[in-house]
Amino acid sequence: MVGGERKLTAAPSPFKLETAQHSVSASGKRYSQLTEFVARVITGLIGAGIFAFGARRMRALSTSGAFAGTVVGTIALAAGWNWGILLVAHFISASALSKLGEKRKARLVGAVVEKGDHRDAKQVLANGGVYALAAIAYMLSRTNAWYAVGIGALAASAADTWATEIGTLAGRNPRSIVSGQPVPAGTSGGVSLIGTIASLGGALFIAAGAAIARWPVPFTAVVLGGLAGAMADSLLGATLQTRRWCDVCAKPTERPVHNCGNRTRRTGGVRGFDNDAVNAVCSGVGALVALLLS
Ligand SMILES: [Zn+2]
Repeated sequence: MVGGERKLTAAPSPFKLETAQHSVSASGKRYSQLTEFVARVITGLIGAGIFAFGARRMRALSTSGAFAGTVVGTIALAAGWNWGILLVAHFISASALSKLGEKRKARLVGAVVEKGDHRDAKQVLANGGVYALAAIAYMLSRTNAWYAVGIGALAASAADTWATEIGTLAGRNPRSIVSGQPVPAGTSGGVSLIGTIASLGGALFIAAGAAIARWPVPFTAVVLGGLAGAMADSLLGATLQTRRWCDVCAKPTERPVHNCGNRTRRTGGVRGFDNDAVNAVCSGVGALVALLLS
């Protein structure tokens, strides 16, 4: 593209002046688009890298999580500045909420939940993978539908994260979304009123971000996508998600190795269908619902 432009300007033909000028301005536009794309990718690599490894220092991400975060962040920025900014807004809100009352939450649910709050690569991809794929698809096709897919996935991830973090901290008497029976705090599939309100908050937060960025997706489609994703997460958490048991402590848990050091055994759910798999489905449901409502 650049070479062709040089050749044209180096050997202008008086008879083809108009064509040549037209061609130069067209390729010039393409050239500036390419320059901006390269600038975004470089900014993405450096910015997302600094951001992700800063998050690792603050123990929000593990090392593998920081690498995965850099990749997802770079892909998002490659698709456009606002793809990157929306992702960062989600990540900051999710990390801040997970740091909120950290000690109290660890005391309440540390033995139950599968992982601590250092998100690893699998966790990052389970939460940001659909968004990154939508960003890639948007770059290749420039079709507006991918905005709905991306933002629906992000809204679902936010709704689920806000519900989990706030619900665990402030929710009272969580009950199974399926049976209605009381369950210990932090149990997958357990829902509380405050957690449900928090999931609405997460969905509204992302919908507001998309509206500010003037994304061509209806506000309600984003909110309902987020809520549907969080609900799918709770339903799957209560049914298909792997349930485990620690024989030493005689307690339910999601951890393959309990925090007491004992290897736990599977007592229900589908083998290998862990919390990350549930989160990936959650963001997929959010993407689908937002797309269908757009
Ligand atoms: Zn144990």
